[in-house]
Amino acid sequence: MLKNGKWSKEFNRCMKCGGNDCPHHSNGLCYNCFNTKRNHDQKTKLYRKEFYRKYWLKIKENPETYKELQEKNKEAVKRYYEKKKINK
Ligand SMILES: [Zn+2]
Repeated sequence: MLKNGKWSKEFNRCMKCGGNDCPHHSNGLCYNCFNTKRNHDQKTKLYRKEFYRKYWLKIKENPETYKELQEKNKEAVKRYYEKKKINK
């Protein structure tokens, strides 16, 4: 709680749980809710890791597809920078 009686600069209470007993952390969330959110993010991270692991196995099974994808990606990056140059 801030000196002027407000919970945080922009918020009167937590955006998620609606309480103001727990101190404000950031983005309108109290410490509790912020930690919950962070845990959730970590789950998402693990899920992504798993996804890439599977993706990587596919690539190993079929390296030709990967090479093709790599070439396509290179071209896309090149085109992107060329576009940027023109815009400058
Ligand atoms: Zn909260």
